Formats: sequence, structure tokens, C-alpha cells
Amino acid sequence: MKILVINAGSSSLKYQLIDMNGEVVIAKGICERVGAPEGHFELKTEKGKYEETVAMSNHTEAFLVVKKNLTEGEYKVIDSLDEITAIGHRVVQGGSIYKESTLITDEVIAGIESLCDLAPLHNPAHIQGINACREVFGDKVPQVAVFDNAFHSTMPEEAYMFGIPYEYYEKYQIRRYGFHGTSHRYVSGECAKIMGKDLKDIKLITCHLGNGSSITAIKDGKVIDTSMGLTPLDGFVMGTRSGGIDPSVVTFLQEKEGWTPAETNAVLNKKSGIYGISGGMSDDRDILKAADEGNERAELAKKMLWYQIRKYIGSYIAAMQGVDAIVFTGGIGENSQPLRQNICESFEYIGVKFNAEENPKAIRGVGGELSAPDSKVKVYVIPTNEELMIARDTKEIAEKVL
Ligand code: AMP
Repeated sequence: MKILVINAGSSSLKYQLIDMNGEVVIAKGICERVGAPEGHFELKTEKGKYEETVAMSNHTEAFLVVKKNLTEGEYKVIDSLDEITAIGHRVVQGGSIYKESTLITDEVIAGIESLCDLAPLHNPAHIQGINACREVFGDKVPQVAVFDNAFHSTMPEEAYMFGIPYEYYEKYQIRRYGFHGTSHRYVSGECAKIMGKDLKDIKLITCHLGNGSSITAIKDGKVIDTSMGLTPLDGFVMGTRSGGIDPSVVTFLQEKEGWTPAETNAVLNKKSGIYGISGGMSDDRDILKAADEGNERAELAKKMLWYQIRKYIGSYIAAMQGVDAIVFTGGIGENSQPLRQNICESFEYIGVKFNAEENPKAIRGVGGELSAPDSKVKVYVIPTNEELMIARDTKEIAEKVL
């Protein structure tokens, strides 16, 4: 069975074609600048990488370009679209409606649409992607929505409520939803397998650290808290996002700078965090290099990130009254040796025994154990695979309806 995994953004479309027989990625790529006069198409298969400049005025045209290149020419991997059994879509915001991956129907599209206010940049684009798939693949191919926050839907209300008047929760569903749920779910499942335990029997802290980052506490097999909130802005400093700050900073700056809500959002999401502190660098590799070379603001950005991660992990250990394992994933978590060493060594007091020799071996998609064999708390690097998780859910749901 072949599953197509789609992540549709407002002007982009990422895709992966996964053969579930062996869970092998047979093609993957991206359509960028959809809607612009000149777009960019990319496809990677085992034969290599193919790129072309091509105009795609909307998501339907983007899918037609994907279709053409998957089924024709030098890089073709299938004879026709009929070989694709089902399509899985990443959907950022499922609100309180969708607590698990769901077969897409007209009613579900309306449900995702009703949540556009909570994810104005993402949900409308996902709907475009879903509708475009229907046009290109027809109605008979099952489509499944895999929600970014479904895994976090087990959070208790004391964790997901904000301390603002209750009426705004009732009126606008303002609460903590969390994101990266598919990644946290994947790595927590893999971690339980590595430990040879049932997820229900371990206390886990999973750290998805990339351009966007979040940390999640998992107890009794359920998420009990996560760092991202109503939107992916909450938590700790990220590449360009501020993370959690005193809310008064927002109103203070709006008054002083005369910013509109949209301008405020842009500063907090695109010009803040590591980028804002360092003065223009958001890539963790640049920060580490500049800090080593004596750049004080890069050093400050680095120290802030490490400190805030430590605070989150510490608070989740307190929330769960213990921890059995800490997992690092995401571009930074899977690669940044200095960060991992710093975090691991700062938790020696609760029983993390860091194995410095193993740290360099876990890099570029290769996982590993960073804790010593006799460490009371285990630490793992587990490369994430959200697409595979989406494909697995899609397969399971599609099999029920086909
Ligand atoms: P992601 O959003 O998960 O793709 O992660 C992107 C982040 O991973 C960027 O900030 C990269 O700098 C970071 N990253 C990738 N490779 C390394 C590395 N070798 N050391 C430190 N950070 C890295």
C-alpha cells in the first residue's frame, strides 16, 4: 500500500510518497511559491534530485505537477495515481473537536474551517490542500487528517487553561492546545520500544527542538502538559519566536511603538527569540559558531535557550513527580552536542549520568543513548518522523473504509 503524505502551507506543498510495505519513502519533495508567477518544484527519489521552475497558480496545479513527475519522466516512481491508496494530511489545529486522526468528510472539512480563527495561517491552507487533492485524485481515495495537537488532547484542564476570565474560554476556546503532537507521539512511542516498556508505565519528557520548539510531559501514556499554547508562540525562545513572555510586554510595546495586532504578531513570531537576541542569526549552528568566536549576543541567545529548556524540563519533572527518560529530537535536538551535554549535565542531581562518548555519535538522523548504562534517568536522541506517523494513521483509517 502506498500512502501520500501532504503538508500544505499557504504557498507551499510538501509531499512524501511512502510504501507501507517496509515503510520506505519512495519519493519526497516540495512545491514552493505556489500562487506566484514563478514557482519551484523539487522531487527526490532513489534516482536523485529533480528540480524545475514552474508556475503553479494554486494547490490543484501544484498537485498536477506532483502527479506528472511521480508518474512520468526520468524520476517516475509509479505508473499512475491509482497506485496511491490513501492520502494523509498534516493539519495544525484540530481544536477541542479532533482528539485523534480522522477520515476527511465534508463535515470534517467544515470542522477544520470552523477552527481557522485559531490557526489563521495554517488551517485555510490545509483546506486548500484537501480540496485540491479531491480534484486531482477524485472522491474515492480516502483522505485522513492528522492533527498536530491531537496527542496533547489528554492534558488536564489545570494544564490547558490560562488564568484569564473563563468567559473567553467559552466564547473563543482560548486555551493551551500544544503543537508538534505527531512528533512527540512518534518519539515517545519509539522511546518506550527502546526501553522495552509500555508507554503507560514510564514518565517521559520529549524535547522537540528545531526552528520551532516544544517540550512535552507524558505520564501514564498521556500528555499532561506541553510548552506551546494557543499558538506555537508559547514556550521558550525559538529560532525567531519569543516563547513565553510577560503579557504586559505586548501591551507596553503596542502603546510605545504604535503596533497593530498583526505587526505585534510579526515581531513576536518572526523577529524575536534567538534571532532577535543575537541580532539576526536564527540557525543554531551559526549561534554556536559565533558564540565560540566571542560574539556576546550569540552567547546570550545560546545561554537563554539552554536555561529556558532546563527550566521547562525541571518544571515537568516536578509536575510528574519524577522522570524515567528525556528524549531529544528535531534539528537542534538531533544534532547540537553542546546543548545536549549542557542539559544532561544540569540534571545530574536527579540521576542523569551523561555518557560523553556517545554524544557525538547521535547526529544527522542517527539516534542514540546519551545516558550511561547505570544512569537512573535515561536520555535518548530519537530522530523524529512525523510523515511516517501520518502515513501509519492514514493506512489504519483507510483500511477500515476500503
Ligand atoms: P528543524 O526545524 O527541526 O528542521 O531544525 C532546524 C534547526 O536545527 C536549525 O536551527 C539548525 O541550525 C539546527 N541544526 C541542524 N544541524 C545542526 C547541528 N549540527 N548543530 C546544531 N544545530 C543544528
